[in-house]
Amino acid sequence: MPAIGEDAADPRNPAITIVGAGFSGLCMAITLKMAGFHDFVILEKSHRIGGTWRDNTYPGCACDVPSPLYSYSFRLKPDWSRVFAPQSEIWSYLNECAIEYGLERHIRFSTEVVGIEYQDATQTWRIGVSSGDTHISHAVISGIGALHIPKFPELPGRESFAGRSFHSAAWDHSYDFTGKRVAVVGTGASAVQFIPQIAERAGHLSVFQRTPPWIHPKPDFALPEGLKSVFRRFPGAARGARHWVYWLLESRALGFVHDPRFLRGQHRAARRHLRKQVPDPVLRAKVTPDYTIGCKRVLLSNDYYPALARDNVELVTEDIAEIRPHAIVGRSGREHPVDAIVYGTGFKVVDAIDEQHIVGRDGLRIQDAWKNGPHAHLGVLTAGFPNLFFLLGPNTGLGHTSIIFMIEAQTHYILECLRLLARTRSRAIEVKPEAEREYNRRIQRRLADKVWNTGGCRSWYLDKNEVNRSIWPGFTAEYWARTRRVNPRDFVLHR
Ligand SMILES: Cc1cc2nc3c(=O)[nH]c(=O)nc-3n(C[C@H](O)[C@H](O)[C@H](O)COP(=O)(O)OP(=O)(O)OC[C@H]3O[C@@H](n4cnc5c(N)ncnc54)[C@H](O)[C@@H]3O)c2cc1C
Repeated sequence: MPAIGEDAADPRNPAITIVGAGFSGLCMAITLKMAGFHDFVILEKSHRIGGTWRDNTYPGCACDVPSPLYSYSFRLKPDWSRVFAPQSEIWSYLNECAIEYGLERHIRFSTEVVGIEYQDATQTWRIGVSSGDTHISHAVISGIGALHIPKFPELPGRESFAGRSFHSAAWDHSYDFTGKRVAVVGTGASAVQFIPQIAERAGHLSVFQRTPPWIHPKPDFALPEGLKSVFRRFPGAARGARHWVYWLLESRALGFVHDPRFLRGQHRAARRHLRKQVPDPVLRAKVTPDYTIGCKRVLLSNDYYPALARDNVELVTEDIAEIRPHAIVGRSGREHPVDAIVYGTGFKVVDAIDEQHIVGRDGLRIQDAWKNGPHAHLGVLTAGFPNLFFLLGPNTGLGHTSIIFMIEAQTHYILECLRLLARTRSRAIEVKPEAEREYNRRIQRRLADKVWNTGGCRSWYLDKNEVNRSIWPGFTAEYWARTRRVNPRDFVLHR
């Protein structure tokens, strides 16, 4: 088979395999194409591209980072309809990108990767897919998404429920909520978007809250036609708007990564929003968080609190004890009769690793390499797994700005690794264990006193040992700078 950087000899076994056709996988593919690497394939388990923005079709679904920044830097869109574009528009944007950059011929749809194994003798990856086929590649780039596999709460009797129930990431559009008794479990980022929509139609809505989120007003409005035509005619203006949003959001990180005193302004803004939107002191007490703002993702909404205040909506704060065929039962024993349950309970994050079949050099399983929790050099490479690259890997998540910025930094870094391989005509690149260990030690040391770890909340950023495996602890500009170049001293090149 050809080395990385050479043209395809056998299109069934391309030099590079990208797994997943969401924002990450598509960005990687475009980056490769723009750099002249054409011998790659994208394996996508669904029959459409789009990842998050294909799957999450719940009413009210939209990004919560302004759209000028929640898009690729190399493909600005001058005519977003709103500051925070809805799901359908983001999905269309991704489809347009895939067509414009000629990615469709690289994508194999309905092809789920079920396992990858490194073959020491040939220094290649054997990739098993759902049909039973196997492919061989020099390099594998995983873009399978950090928030992809829906998570359901472990509640006794959940399977016994006789009404309609579904997760927010697999919305049942055939279900008519009109006049029904509905329960929503969870009050996270998705739930605050769809609860106001259900509340308008349901006969009665019970919202089961474990931990209330901090919420800021959402500065959302339709972008005026005049502004769109300025952005269309003067791309520099659109880029300027993007830069402005970037630095505005980056300044929010001051409180997270630099000095918690900068969080006070964010705290005051959230309290003001709460006071203004929730005049009822009983409800206000229920939705006032008891942890430091920023410990969990700060949400944006103008219609969530008013929805909770409606006559047909009840906020239930006691834990759920069990689910019966026609009701949810609280710890107090109170029964809430319901026709439908919607789970807004998020995604498997750190625990998703248990389900992956990745075997590296010398038969090393990823579960063993990461037995104390996932870690990777710059979130991208991990020792024992040559030529395997993660997009949005460990400790590269964000609470304050667009994750697409991180994805682009990572695709650049991976490209640099591949260029190094091509230049040196090496077979494989592998991070040295000591470089990765040292990197991870520093990351964890920096996280130790940050609000995500010390803010008094239990979030999905932390693993079962309370170690933060999700968040990047610095400014994104720092991450960008660190991913510009590959430091050969940190790597072993297998020739
Ligand atoms: C509702 C929602 C709203 C969000 N809003 C924001 C926001 O406003 N700002 C922000 O920064 N982030 C947001 N995020 C985070 C969001 O997930 C990322 O911004 C981004 O979409 C991640 O892209 P991705 O390509 O890494 O993952 P995904 O979009 O999850 O795509 C992964 C792809 O890989 C495919 N795949 C997975 N496993 C396999 C396999 N084994 N074989 C083959 N294919 C596979 C999936 O089918 C999918 O197409 C949001 C997330 C959700 C769920």
